[in-house]
Amino acid sequence: MNELDTVPEDRLNPVNTQTWANGRHLVRCVKVIQETHDVKTFCFMAQTPIMFFFKPGQFVTLELNIGGEQVMRSYTISSSPSVPYSFSITVKRLPKGVVSTWLHDNLRVDDEIAVHGPVGNFNCIDYSTDKALFLSGGVGITPVMSMARWWYDTNSAVDMKFVHSAQTPKDIIFLKELELMASRIDNFELSIICERYDIGESWYGYRGFLTKSLLELIAPDVLQREVYCCGPTPYMKAVRAMLADIGFDMSRYHEESFGETPPAAIEDAEESAELALIAEEIPQTGFCVEFADEGMSVTINDSETIHAASTKLGSTFPRLAVWAYAAPAK
Ligand SMILES: Cc1cc2nc3c(=O)[nH]c(=O)nc-3n(C[C@H](O)[C@H](O)[C@H](O)COP(=O)(O)OP(=O)(O)OC[C@H]3O[C@@H](n4cnc5c(N)ncnc54)[C@H](O)[C@@H]3O)c2cc1C
Repeated sequence: MNELDTVPEDRLNPVNTQTWANGRHLVRCVKVIQETHDVKTFCFMAQTPIMFFFKPGQFVTLELNIGGEQVMRSYTISSSPSVPYSFSITVKRLPKGVVSTWLHDNLRVDDEIAVHGPVGNFNCIDYSTDKALFLSGGVGITPVMSMARWWYDTNSAVDMKFVHSAQTPKDIIFLKELELMASRIDNFELSIICERYDIGESWYGYRGFLTKSLLELIAPDVLQREVYCCGPTPYMKAVRAMLADIGFDMSRYHEESFGETPPAAIEDAEESAELALIAEEIPQTGFCVEFADEGMSVTINDSETIHAASTKLGSTFPRLAVWAYAAPAK
C-alpha cells in the first residue's frame, strides 16, 4: 500500500497541501495567546489544510459582523511563512476600539471568520537586504517580527538589529522569543527601550525614547542598513527626522502605518492648523479614492471609510487604496 494512502484525512500532509492566494478565505481560530496585559495573538488555520504563504510584513483584512454590521480592519500577519499551516495576527486592545475589543472579548478557538489578503508592499521580500535594522514601537512590532522570524527560521545570513520601544516592561510583546532568538544566533541583536517603568517593575535595559544618539550607539553602522519601521505616528515621524538628520538614504527606509490617529498623535498643533488651512482653501465635495487594481476611483464623503469606497465599486472584496485626496467642488 502507498504510504500516502495511510495518512488519515484530518492529519496534515505537506506533499499534497494547496497554497492560498490573495482573495477571501474562511479560516478557523485554533489558538489564542495572551502576549501582554492588552495584546493577544490569534492563530488561524483553514478547514481544509492550506499553506499560508505570504511576504513577511504583509497584512490581512478581517471581515466581521459586529452588532449586525459588517466591519473590516486590517492586521499584519505576525507569524512567518516558514510555519505555513497557520498564520497569526497580534492585536492590541484599544479602549473603545470596535474590532480590537470584540476580538479580545469574543473570538474563541473554533470560531470561523473571513479574511481577505494577503497584501502589502511593506515586506522583506520586495525590499530585501544583507543588513537590516528593525525599528518598532508598541504593537508596530508585528510586521518586523514576521520578517525577523522568517530570516531566523530560514537560517538566513542577514545581519539583523532589532530595536523595539515599549511603554513599560510589561508592555513588551514577544520578549521571551526575541531573547531566545538573540541568544541562539550571532546575526540577531536585540535592543529594547522602555519609556518608563512602574513601581515594582525592574528594568535594566535602555530607558526613555529612541533618540538619535541612542540609535547611533545601538547601530553605529545605521547608514549601511536597510531600515524597516513600524509604530505610532509620532514615533515614525521622529525616526524619519533622526535618519534625515544623519544623512540616511531614505530610499532604503520602509515603513508601515497602522493608520491610527490617537489624540496624542495630534501633538503638532502647527501642522494640524496648516492642514486645516489647506482644506479650507480647497472647496471640496468629499474625498476621491483611487484603487491599485484596474485604476478605479470613487468619491466618498468625509464620514465614509475606504472600505465603503471599495464597496461602492460593486465589490465585497476590499481593494487596495493607493491614493485619497480632497475632491474639488464641481
Ligand atoms: C496595514 C495595517 C496593519 C495593521 N496591523 C495591526 C496589527 O498588527 N495589530 C494591531 O493591533 N493593529 C493593527 N492595525 C490597526 C487595526 O487595523 C485597527 O485600526 C485597530 O485594531 C483599531 O481598530 P478598532 O476597531 O479596535 O478601533 P476603532 O473602533 O476603529 O477606533 C479607533 C480609535 O478610536 C478610539 N475610539 C473609538 N470610539 C471612541 C469613542 N467613542 N470615544 C473615544 N475614543 C474612541 C479607539 O479607542 C481607538 O483608539 C493595522 C492597520 C493597518 C492599516
